Amino acid sequence: MRVLLTGGAGYIGSHIAVVLLEEGHDVIVIDDFSNSHPEAVRRVEELSGRPVIRIDCDLADLDASSRALADVEFDSVIHLAGLKSIGESVSRPSSYYRTNIVATLNILDIMAIKDVRRFVFSSSATVYGTPDSPVIDESHPVGRGLTNPYGWSKWMNEQIIRDVQHARPELEVSLLRYFNPVGAHPSGQIGESPSGTPNNLMPYVAQVAAGTRDRVSVFGDSYATPDGTGVRDYIHIMDLAEGHLAALAHLSPGVTVYNLGTGVGHSVLELIREFSAQSGREIPYRVTAPRTGDVSSAIADPAKANSELGWRATRSLADSCRDSWLWQSQNPQGLTGQG
Ligand code: UDP
Repeated sequence: MRVLLTGGAGYIGSHIAVVLLEEGHDVIVIDDFSNSHPEAVRRVEELSGRPVIRIDCDLADLDASSRALADVEFDSVIHLAGLKSIGESVSRPSSYYRTNIVATLNILDIMAIKDVRRFVFSSSATVYGTPDSPVIDESHPVGRGLTNPYGWSKWMNEQIIRDVQHARPELEVSLLRYFNPVGAHPSGQIGESPSGTPNNLMPYVAQVAAGTRDRVSVFGDSYATPDGTGVRDYIHIMDLAEGHLAALAHLSPGVTVYNLGTGVGHSVLELIREFSAQSGREIPYRVTAPRTGDVSSAIADPAKANSELGWRATRSLADSCRDSWLWQSQNPQGLTGQG
């Protein structure tokens, strides 16, 4: 296959690119590098030993991206391009909606012009809002109790994609709802490179382990969970990347939704303890107030992806912490200043 990866230089995209290239697929990355670095693409080429076609372009600019892709051949799209900070989406809602919605409309229009039919979308367990139960399957209602524009933009994108597929029934679509992607490529060469203060738990913990930050704030310890701290389904980024490969291989006309998660939950304190064990570093923390909008537990029921895609997350929280630490310790400044 020739796969166009939108946002392919980012954390998730770079890992998907390596997995695709290693499986013999060709990869075209389109990215505006607003929250990623060309060095990531160079490292993907180095790790896989194969070239990547790189297109530097903002997908939210229809004229520019139509021109940039006019002569590029691809048969499948994995659409990852978008903004992803929940907090920033609350303070800059119009930027979030503009980027996350317009980029999707544009790539769907470009696919129609080029008669490309295979589409995998990077969605999020965020669309489940406030879940009815800790373990969530794909039939759980979406859009209830959503509290931020980032989550709404994922929800709206899912609806837009369904409507476009309805109008173009030949489209083969997979909507992948990610739980909490963590970890890094086991080489330590690519990983998550947050700009500024990390919003997510694992990159924050990694920076505390490295001594860049003083201590972790544990957002609440009075949840109805075994140790009172929030429980999440942390999925290793390589498992997540392999989930995309499986989704691509099983596309069929229509829209299919899959949870990508492990089915196992871990608390904030468990993650801190495991990271400390893997890094050999002490990780100071203190308990603070819960973060607005957080739910106590969110764990995937991954049974549908397991049975229909023949895919299963195999890596443990220990693997994620070990690989995240390798990446962090080898790249203390992320990819900034490289290449
Ligand atoms: N969390 C925390 N301190 C942090 C960041 C996150 O205690 O600095 C908690 C958060 O309340 C949640 C879990 O860690 O229970 C995962 O949060 P993250 O932001 O990584 O992902 P989310 O599940 O919110 O998408």
